[in-house]
Amino acid sequence: MERLKVKAAALTLQNTGEGRCYHPYAREEARMIVLRLFLAAALAAAFVTSVDSCEDDQSDPDTTGPEKTAPGEDEQETGDPQMDERTKRMYEFALNDDTDFEVMPKPQPGDWLYSHAEQHQTFDDYVGTSPRRPADNRRKITIIPIGDFPGREEKLLEPIREYCSIVFSCETVLLPKEKIPPDAPGRPASWDASQTQYRTGYLLTRFLRPRVPRDAICLLGITMADLYPDDGWNYVFGEASLRDRVGVFSFVRFFPEFYGQEPSEENLQVALMRCLKTMAHETGHMFSLPHCVKYKCLMNGANSQSEQDSGPIHACPYCLKKLQWNTGFDLLARYEKLAQFYDEHGYKEEAEWVTNRLKKIRASAE
Ligand SMILES: [Zn+2]
Ligand SMILES: [Zn+2]
Repeated sequence: MERLKVKAAALTLQNTGEGRCYHPYAREEARMIVLRLFLAAALAAAFVTSVDSCEDDQSDPDTTGPEKTAPGEDEQETGDPQMDERTKRMYEFALNDDTDFEVMPKPQPGDWLYSHAEQHQTFDDYVGTSPRRPADNRRKITIIPIGDFPGREEKLLEPIREYCSIVFSCETVLLPKEKIPPDAPGRPASWDASQTQYRTGYLLTRFLRPRVPRDAICLLGITMADLYPDDGWNYVFGEASLRDRVGVFSFVRFFPEFYGQEPSEENLQVALMRCLKTMAHETGHMFSLPHCVKYKCLMNGANSQSEQDSGPIHACPYCLKKLQWNTGFDLLARYEKLAQFYDEHGYKEEAEWVTNRLKKIRASAE
């Protein structure tokens, strides 16, 4: 059995506000949260812990239960004076109508929200945290493949880049692949002693941090090598430093063949969907989005692979509004590109969802 564990370390930071990325209520002082995404192979437990995390606050998990509130009730008008009336009506609908989103059910044992008492963050609260936003001189999302991407795994890199560029409507650049330095700290992988498992801390601070391009919002390292944070852990999905704007994620365990299945096109699709969800979710954190507790949403925390798999890849109206405010994307064009992306990559259900959503949005302005 596997047990997914999460650790979050809070380090004191200069008062930049950067650190409160997804815990606006948790602390009074500005801090940096180091996210560790641990998947530790434990012998006993069949569940728990996370695909990623920050430190808990003390709220009651029941507050994240099935109560349904309209997303618009605590939010601002879409007030761009450049928009014509019809476009304004469509934005109002898209950023407030929640009929295509499942309200987050009451957390059950094993669910992320059962063990992480997170609170809802309103749009005003989000804006009040001075979230990280693209600036004139810092607009790119950058991704760097680290180490080998054997065979077909390399095929996933371009779709991942393209997907991030659509979701955030920011130029997203795939940097040239780099080898893992021979002196990188590691240990033989428990599942195959001929493979090396690498320490995330080294990759974040020694490898990625010096490589963050001047014009990048963030640099995300992706690797097919297995990772671990320290000797107390068996393995980890990844780790990110919001202060340093870097993250490193291993995709090796997203492939069903890691668990003994035969390679197939279907497996590749499963793996790509997990990669897309992970990259979009983690990049969302880089734009200071917290976890979503209101709806089943891209920005939900997940305690396990199955919890991530069962959640949607779509952002709910709350999260979409924050993102749209942050990067200023054209909401309709973004949905159109997403529908096309899902269609081209064989994600029929997701393509249909977006197409139907777009129809409703357009109909709202008729
Ligand atoms: Zn997260
Ligand atoms: Zn959401």
